[in-house]
Amino acid sequence: MSHAPSSRAPARASLPVLDRAPRDTNDARPLIDRLAALATPASLFEKTEHDHLRCLACAHGCVIQEGRAGACAVRFVRDGVLYAPHGYVARRLARNVEINTLYHFHAGERSMIMGMYGCDLRCPYCHNWRLSQALREDDEHTADEEPLLCTAEALVEHAIEQGCSVMAAAYNEPMIAAEWVRDVFAEAKRRGLATAVISDANTTREALSFIRPVCDAFRVDLKAADNERYRALGGRAAPVFEAIATAKELGFWVEVVTMVVPGFNDELKSLRTIADAIAKVSGEIPWHLNAFVPRYKLESLPRMEMGPLASVVGMGYSKGLRYVYASNARGGYTELSHTRCPSCHELLIERDDYRVTANHLKNGACFKCGETIAGVWGERRASEANAPASPELP
Ligand code: SF4
Repeated sequence: MSHAPSSRAPARASLPVLDRAPRDTNDARPLIDRLAALATPASLFEKTEHDHLRCLACAHGCVIQEGRAGACAVRFVRDGVLYAPHGYVARRLARNVEINTLYHFHAGERSMIMGMYGCDLRCPYCHNWRLSQALREDDEHTADEEPLLCTAEALVEHAIEQGCSVMAAAYNEPMIAAEWVRDVFAEAKRRGLATAVISDANTTREALSFIRPVCDAFRVDLKAADNERYRALGGRAAPVFEAIATAKELGFWVEVVTMVVPGFNDELKSLRTIADAIAKVSGEIPWHLNAFVPRYKLESLPRMEMGPLASVVGMGYSKGLRYVYASNARGGYTELSHTRCPSCHELLIERDDYRVTANHLKNGACFKCGETIAGVWGERRASEANAPASPELP
């Protein structure tokens, strides 16, 4: 657990527009202190029997002492209050929904993807490490994007102006800022947008229930099958598997991604365990195998070829999963990013480089045999007619 940021968290003025955080040259405060000045009191916590504050935003469950921060560095206790990130984005980009590796959710539509700083894990191959690890790396230039101050209203207005029908939270771990994400998503829902969190799923039932009223999809990065590998990333396997089952139970649309990293999680036995565990929750959950691309601390490893991934796709189907995809690798195989009908195998959605190039679905079903294709296709949730309705915000 690290020390809390050194500045006090003052009352915030309302921030009407997206605006770069003022960075005058006399302001020598580190990024963590500038973010702390934006933080607001958190909702996701409980009091321990000794009257300490236990954070419930992620499965670490940090009990945070006065003047200290949790393992993520962005949630901290000051004057007996737990503070959480609020009122800013480190990055926001309008991109195809498929860029989020969400293939059965508003296919072919445009999403506004917001990201902040910080993470509860520390994966040495993180694609977005300049955001996720910005507060841990010694180098003050790790975060090469300055925070943009914004209100939920301004962010959603910007999304709509950019033609987005989906608001997504990704890049770093959104659940460590669940209160801010919920505020943004509540506004997005009010304006008619769909919403999705892209998460490492090292989270809690409390946090999932907290965002569910305003969040439609939970896209999970499931990194390994066991504790030993998860420990190397700073987490545990069990909470992640639990979160996948809980998210499904709560009625989120769920998709799972596993990045296959050579020498870390590429043993067939371990991938079989993952496929089994997902199929046990539901065979309708799409499983995406993402090929390793050299990044961050594993930059010297070679990029992965598609060949080995193709056989893992076959294994996934043999375990009872109905939609298994592979992407991100060299060596073609665009075919493995298409959606086929699990009943008659007709080609239904064609994709190329995280882009839908043709969509032959008819009202969320196969145009040829009429089989319902699990997912949330535009306005209508095709396979989840019996899913719990979104609960009311407390
Ligand atoms: S989000 Fe996780 S790491 Fe951060 S303070 Fe809460 S429990 Fe700890």
